[in-house]
Amino acid sequence: MTDRTRPSEADACASPDLIPVDSAVALMLAAAAPVPETESLALTDSLGRVLAEDVSAAIAVPGYDNSAMDGYAVSSTDCAEAGRSLKVSQRIAAGQTGDKLDAGTAARIFTGAPVPEGADAVVMQERCQAQGDQVIVNTAVVVGENIRRAGEDIALGGVVLRAGTLIRPQDQGLIASVGQQSVTVRRKLKVATFFTGDELVEPGQPLAPGQIYNSNRYTLNALLQSIGCAVNDLGIVPDTLEATLDVLQQAAVDADLVLTSGGVSVGEEDYVRVALQQLGELNMWRINMKPGKPVAFGRVGDALFMGLPGNPVSVFVTFLIFARPLILKLQGAAMTDPQVLSLRSGFDWDGGKRQEYLRVRVRHDDHGAYAELYPHQGSGVLSSASWADGLAIIEPGITMHVGDLVQYIPFKGLC
Ligand code: AMP
Ligand code: MG
Repeated sequence: MTDRTRPSEADACASPDLIPVDSAVALMLAAAAPVPETESLALTDSLGRVLAEDVSAAIAVPGYDNSAMDGYAVSSTDCAEAGRSLKVSQRIAAGQTGDKLDAGTAARIFTGAPVPEGADAVVMQERCQAQGDQVIVNTAVVVGENIRRAGEDIALGGVVLRAGTLIRPQDQGLIASVGQQSVTVRRKLKVATFFTGDELVEPGQPLAPGQIYNSNRYTLNALLQSIGCAVNDLGIVPDTLEATLDVLQQAAVDADLVLTSGGVSVGEEDYVRVALQQLGELNMWRINMKPGKPVAFGRVGDALFMGLPGNPVSVFVTFLIFARPLILKLQGAAMTDPQVLSLRSGFDWDGGKRQEYLRVRVRHDDHGAYAELYPHQGSGVLSSASWADGLAIIEPGITMHVGDLVQYIPFKGLC
């Protein structure tokens, strides 16, 4: 198996008039500053939000030495060799506290219960034999065994989570474990969306000849909601300069970001770039990627602007590669890059001049995981994105063979 990802070869094959994907992402991120406003939220409402402040531990976790097992708390000096018999002097369940353990005795103890003073080990019950009020310890005992030490998870006063953390379920649990019931997060990002195209009709309406359903609305708005944005959906916009100017002005009024689909190419029916140039500023990036070459980026009023292409797969891919990192940065998240893994390719591919984002699915065979390619990779074939569980990245000019390593971005965690 060889890694055929060779940057020097990739650079040599890239189209000179198109901006490499990484440079385009870097330029967009450089233009974005996190929203300054914060709010205090109940911990239960904080999933997917970004911490605006560090969370510090007001207590140590665990708060006291406690048993990791159901068994018997003993002093190791009483059990230097196997077969010692000890009197069971007390019983300590989780939620209770015991008394000081006298020499030569044991405490029946359960998982999570505090280890009593005088005990320095817990013997699991499977190694013990209860006999009346005695227990025979059938093993030599080592100091500290089966004891969870106070503070071994979280030290008192330590930082539990840093500002910039996007809160996941396990993070909520961690914050709860130090007794905190509210968190300070960045406010929700306000994103205005609209969808250009005279051919567009909303689902539920009949289609006239030449019309299609506005699928991008559902893809894009749901992607935004899945990463915690407040969406102001301005709907379908006809392909006229006047309508595009109107909606753009309206969109920018109370948005941090205006995100659109369609109308960003250089066709006669593409008015988004022109409108943006008139009302704001445009950095038109023709990006060296497939799908999704035209992505308009700029500003309108106080809002950033990103115009994604119209093709449904291009919308999905360019959202994940450009809009998502930009949004995470605006939300104050410390980590904005998607996770890129390495996977065995299950297909041959002759790379073109542009960096390609192929829709693939992870499969398994006797040699482990590999990437299976969806057979129809057209930028209008939205089935490919629904079928796939991730994107394989093929750098410009790379020829991929079955068994080569390919970069893979899983959708899981992205949307
Ligand atoms: P455009 O970038 O406007 O030239 O659109 C490129 C292709 O994407 C055309 O085939 C459009 O019909 C299609 N398209 C544009 N907007 C949407 C949309 N909202 N939903 C589904 N397809 C769209
Ligand atoms: Mg169009």
